[in-house]
Amino acid sequence: MSQSVGFIGLGIMGQPMALNLVKAGFAVTVFNRTRSKAEPLERAGARIASTPAEAARDAEVIVSIVSDTAAMEEVVCGQGGILETIRPGAVLVDSSTISPTVSRKLGCLVAGKGAAMLDAPVTGSKHGAEKGELTFMIGGDREALERAMPVLKVLGKKHIYCGEHGLGLAAKLAMNCILAATVEIFSEGFVMATKAGVQPQTLLEIMQSSLARSAIVDFKAPFIFKGDFTPYFPLKWMHKDLELAMEAAYAQNVPMPTTAAVKEVYGAAKAQGQGDRDYVAVITFLEKLAGVKVRGTAAP
Ligand code: NAP
Repeated sequence: MSQSVGFIGLGIMGQPMALNLVKAGFAVTVFNRTRSKAEPLERAGARIASTPAEAARDAEVIVSIVSDTAAMEEVVCGQGGILETIRPGAVLVDSSTISPTVSRKLGCLVAGKGAAMLDAPVTGSKHGAEKGELTFMIGGDREALERAMPVLKVLGKKHIYCGEHGLGLAAKLAMNCILAATVEIFSEGFVMATKAGVQPQTLLEIMQSSLARSAIVDFKAPFIFKGDFTPYFPLKWMHKDLELAMEAAYAQNVPMPTTAAVKEVYGAAKAQGQGDRDYVAVITFLEKLAGVKVRGTAAP
């Protein structure tokens, strides 16, 4: 018999993830703060809960993917939160990108109920969530991970165990520093070359023939050249992750000068109203400063 699953957070990522679990035959109870987003899941066969506690009550595995640290604290400890009902032996798999320190504290509270919590942030964005091809970075108790594996196998193609609770998030934050900086420096270079008169498509072709080639640039350049900033990973969440990375760096006495500067560029783009667009919209801030737009035309 398949496990009963509680699923909390039906945003860009959570909606397709929960749907994949329903399609795979799990008995899924979903909670979303804005109830209307749960209705498509109900039509697909899920049950709607009116609080996280209700979604957790009968669940052997609870998956959460909410926006930020404050949201996850509310989902676990708030009124109607998971702590009110989580069963001994249940596993809470949190795929939100939040503070590793707070995640460990929530893990202690969950352990106090005889249950376990894993930090299991993901990469792969909306496409990966839709296809069930996410990569999970996981921290916490290995035995609890084994219990959650049937659920995680439906949601992802790769499950990388990083060590104790918090290390999945530490890996995720490091990865997003690298992604954010890559997209930011790509934007700077393309703005400079475009202003000089080089066609963006020509510079891309040169990059693709050189060691500067980057998978994220290959994937995102066509969207930037079309001016398509539909949010797959909203810029405000990339800015949040850079803030979290700087907090973690401070706590460990690790200087991250490039991340500090890149964070401010994303912050400036967010202040200009780009927060709800895809994070590659960071280029629009640099374009405004330079008075040029990086939009594609065919290569000569
Ligand atoms: P999103 O579309 O903005 O969804 C956020 C979800 O969090 C919504 O379901 C929202 O509910 C819920 N939420 C916010 N505050 C809440 C609260 N106080 N209590 C309960 N629920 C609350 O974001 P997303 O893109 O799915 O990202 C979710 C998480 O995954 C973030 O931590 C993000 O960094 C991470 N992530 C995202 C991607 C990506 O490509 N999008 C990739 C990897 C990791 P409402 O519907 O009521 O607003």
